[in-house]
Amino acid sequence: MIIDGKKEAELLRHEVKKEIDSLKLKNNKVPGLTVILIGDFAPSQIYVKNKEKKAKEVGINSEVVRYPKEVSEQEVLKKIKELNDNNAVSGILVQLPLPSQINKEKIINAINPLKDVDGFHPVNVGNLSSGYHATVPCTPLGCLFLIKKTESNLSGKHAVIIGRSNLNGKPMAQLLLKENCTVTIVHSKTKDLKIECLKADILVAAVGVPNLVKGDWVKKDAIVIDVGINKMGDKIVGDVDFDNVKDKVRAITPVPGGVGPMTIACLLKNTLECFKGR
Ligand code: NAP
Repeated sequence: MIIDGKKEAELLRHEVKKEIDSLKLKNNKVPGLTVILIGDFAPSQIYVKNKEKKAKEVGINSEVVRYPKEVSEQEVLKKIKELNDNNAVSGILVQLPLPSQINKEKIINAINPLKDVDGFHPVNVGNLSSGYHATVPCTPLGCLFLIKKTESNLSGKHAVIIGRSNLNGKPMAQLLLKENCTVTIVHSKTKDLKIECLKADILVAAVGVPNLVKGDWVKKDAIVIDVGINKMGDKIVGDVDFDNVKDKVRAITPVPGGVGPMTIACLLKNTLECFKGR
């Protein structure tokens, strides 16, 4: 089974829109999302444009604050404070990566955790790892959503996650632990990746190495989630050798059209939840 991330993202966006419509009818208020975009890094520009478009489609008041790449850290911090204090703003997102004069940690820490739609603030990270209510980073949240569409009860399953970034691998591990999976995280220093991957009922690859996971690294009946987005010539490929894996497993996400579309849909869902939580 090929998991259709585009279709699932559309369904999730539809649900978000329905809820926003009904909240608007009741309270005459809608969520507001402000994205801060610094510099002219092309992938960030495209990504932010997509976020803005999709947010507007579901009825979120979406605004992009743009700064040139020379902007000072002070100015961005001042803007974040202003947005923290603005009741019409339910979600704040600072698009990464940031230019070198700006300290990422300072910026993330400055965002009110209740408006941290990316789930990067240490309060949200801590709450997630303590098993409390937290805003969860959008990509792993989208991965969990796709996994649960395939298998609703994950209890006792062995999940193997390749990659230990704060953005993907670590929150993915926390989410799967919460689902009562037995979780293994592997990374660049792991001795034998293949042996670890072969144990996986659920395999999540969040690495950034094209076609790393081979056909003989997967167990029959595994659910394979490919987070990777890698350019190979003029093609975009994932971290999983899709053609040689797809017929050996129970379910797999394609790249593109798998996890990618879920990330923005989950951002809209997080914005709605932040709006409701205040
Ligand atoms: P990252 O911060 O670079 O982390 C990559 C992780 O993979 C690290 O933990 C690294 O190990 C591990 N790794 C690198 N090479 C490895 C190897 N040969 N064998 C085993 N592990 C290896 O990357 P990220 O931000 O998590 O992103 C990962 C991928 O997901 C990228 O392709 C990115 O473009 C993509 N992505 C997709 C979405 C989406 O919406 N679909 C969103 C975000 C990111 P060490 O910790 O030991 O260095």
